[in-house]
Amino acid sequence: MVLMFDEVARALEDVERLSGRIEMAERLAELLKKANVSEIKNLTYFLQGTLGPSYLAKELGIAEKLSIQAIAEACGYHVKEVERMFMEKGDLGLVVMEVIKKKKQISLFSKSLTFLDVFSIFNKIAGCAGERSVKLKKKLLAELLNNANILEGKFIMRFALGQLRLGAGTSTLIEAMAIAKTGNRGNKDVIERAYNLCSDLGLVAEMLWAHGLEGLSNISITPFLPLRPALAERLPNAKEIFAKLGRCGVEFKFDGFRMQIHKKGNKVVIFSRKLEDITHMFPDVVEVVKELKNDSLIFEGEALAYNEKEDQFYSFQETMHRRRKYGIDEASKLYPLHVYVFDVLFVDGKTLVDEPYIKRRKILESLFPFKILKKSKMWIAENWQEIDKIFQEAIKKRLEGVMVKDLNAPYTAGARKFAWIKLKKSYGTSVDTIDAVVVGYYKGKGARATFKFGGFLVGVWNKEMNVIQTIAKVGSGFSEEEM
Ligand code: AMP
Repeated sequence: MVLMFDEVARALEDVERLSGRIEMAERLAELLKKANVSEIKNLTYFLQGTLGPSYLAKELGIAEKLSIQAIAEACGYHVKEVERMFMEKGDLGLVVMEVIKKKKQISLFSKSLTFLDVFSIFNKIAGCAGERSVKLKKKLLAELLNNANILEGKFIMRFALGQLRLGAGTSTLIEAMAIAKTGNRGNKDVIERAYNLCSDLGLVAEMLWAHGLEGLSNISITPFLPLRPALAERLPNAKEIFAKLGRCGVEFKFDGFRMQIHKKGNKVVIFSRKLEDITHMFPDVVEVVKELKNDSLIFEGEALAYNEKEDQFYSFQETMHRRRKYGIDEASKLYPLHVYVFDVLFVDGKTLVDEPYIKRRKILESLFPFKILKKSKMWIAENWQEIDKIFQEAIKKRLEGVMVKDLNAPYTAGARKFAWIKLKKSYGTSVDTIDAVVVGYYKGKGARATFKFGGFLVGVWNKEMNVIQTIAKVGSGFSEEEM
């Protein structure tokens, strides 16, 4: 049996209407059951709103303008008319539904789409490059819409624009897999563990479909497949942290950006915290890693730009100049990096993630420092006062704070499990940092008029309503050059 795209669209429509996680997982499981082993991998990516795992970075590159033209082309409308409808409805998915509804009344010629038809056309779109790419993308998208029924059109459009917004998150999808394949949602932990080790839920699903739960034990840490990074919990003070962990490791919390570095033989790949492949941005780090004598290695560290003349680190903003696509050679000269290695996960074919931190740490100390690969210093604290002392020292050095680590904990890939607890300066005054999304900007006024830009409007995601709600205007922290 071939999975038709119509079934995918109907499931997505149902999930959109459901609000409970359990019901969502059950409805998704119903869909997943219909997929065979050659479909499940891509179906999983599709439900995640992507064409593959994050490190392959296949971008569709479809903007609203192109979509409007494709809709017009597919359904014989004038572009202006589609634009007007978009203004009115504010959602191209809904525009497509209306346009297709009218079209269906006059034409009955279209072929039924299988799920793999749709997925492979999106792959073609992502692969379009060069001068004619915009035209070609438009043509492919128009063809797809031309063959779509009303619901299919809605979700083709949403996926194309990166707006699938499946209310159910990854963990619900994992639960659905457990239900679909094993009939027991409790098995989701086994699936999640496999996902945490390879960051590729499509691959995990394929293994599960082909070999059942046992197949997942074949998934292990492999150089060049990134692990989902361990995350830190937070507590307000040293006392509470010591009460939680007892004797523990304390390290400075560096304010740079995280790198997960993989090496095998002469090949090196660097992943960001979001697991994008950022290797090409850091030729200086790659060169040094190549010189390490271990054949295979996976380790993590925090990268900071280092000012040799003044023997101190550049600010976070300046460090971020190193994460760029162009002008890499100049930037690496202007902002040489130091990487503070804080964990080692794999050495010479051997996985270390299940070893206690204290043991991984010993291995780390036998490998680093090496040239620009420094070692994040660790102190053992026997009481809360010792944690506090190192914390005060960190603040004096103008660092963010400290990371306190459970000496007996394994590496908690993809999870926040009190294996790491952060203590930051701002906590004491009840101010904290949050991650926000830029949703707009203000025009520059007065001295900023020349920049045409005066600040960002930022928002945060409201999980329950599944929308981004604006929370603040951010007008400081930019240098003139950045503006
Ligand atoms: P936060 O982003 O505030 O949740 O803090 C966690 C981040 O701190 C990690 O993702 C690392 O990038 C960073 N970090 C800085 N220093 C360390 C350290 N010594 N150990 C672990 N993570 C660190």
